[in-house]
Amino acid sequence: MHKIKITKWICVLIFAVFMTTACAIVPMSGRQQLSLVPQSSLMATSLQQYDQFLKENKVSQNKAQTAQVKRVGSRIQHAVEQYFRQNNNSQQLAGYAWEFNLVESKDVNAWCMPGGKVVVYSGILPITKDDNGLAVVIGHEIAHAVANHGAERVSQGLLAQMGGMALSTAIKNQPQATQQLWMGAFGLGAQYGMILPYSRVHENEADHLGLMFMAMAGYDPNAAVDFWQRMSAKKGGQAPPEFLSTHPSDATRIRNIQSLLPEARKYYKPGK
Ligand SMILES: [Zn+2]
Repeated sequence: MHKIKITKWICVLIFAVFMTTACAIVPMSGRQQLSLVPQSSLMATSLQQYDQFLKENKVSQNKAQTAQVKRVGSRIQHAVEQYFRQNNNSQQLAGYAWEFNLVESKDVNAWCMPGGKVVVYSGILPITKDDNGLAVVIGHEIAHAVANHGAERVSQGLLAQMGGMALSTAIKNQPQATQQLWMGAFGLGAQYGMILPYSRVHENEADHLGLMFMAMAGYDPNAAVDFWQRMSAKKGGQAPPEFLSTHPSDATRIRNIQSLLPEARKYYKPGK
């Protein structure tokens, strides 16, 4: 009896130590997040999935549109790097090798993997319209990545489904479940029949950080309100979860963004 009690307390202690070392702080928002997955294994896995994705999908041959994606993307990248540098936080971007691609697809979608691999689907371009509109989307996706939302979702999934066992053990014992977590976590899921939308917390945070990043890069933050209004009008139930999401609802999202505009204007330097 006594022995069982001691074991139980050791478990509680191990769990407490494990949990406290398994937390990270989201840049800019300051929110504490669960982080059970080391950055190194995250990058390696996402790179594999990114290569696989590019093999299975058609990279756009449209020169003007491709140039637009690369132009807007690299401006936001530089703004993000500068922000992290100014906040002595550059180590969070260690191992990032940014890349911006446009793929041919009817889907209204875009994503950024941990490590800075960004893919925009051509189906979203009629809604983004111009550089400012595209900056809303790329800013939002880069925000999901640099705020480590993918890692947080994998961590939450591991904790829920596998009781928080180490990632390497999880991959060995349950390769399919782990694979699905990855797919879902990075927005590639819809394509493979796996739907795992970002939570409301993650969406709000990506809207917030994304708006600041686009403003820092010299894009007019007012464009975010226009973009989400166009997105709201366009939706026909076909969009993948990242842009279909009923959480937050369009009206709530637009109101939130409007309330963030004064903060974004402080960062905005037009014609940069
Ligand atoms: Zn999102």
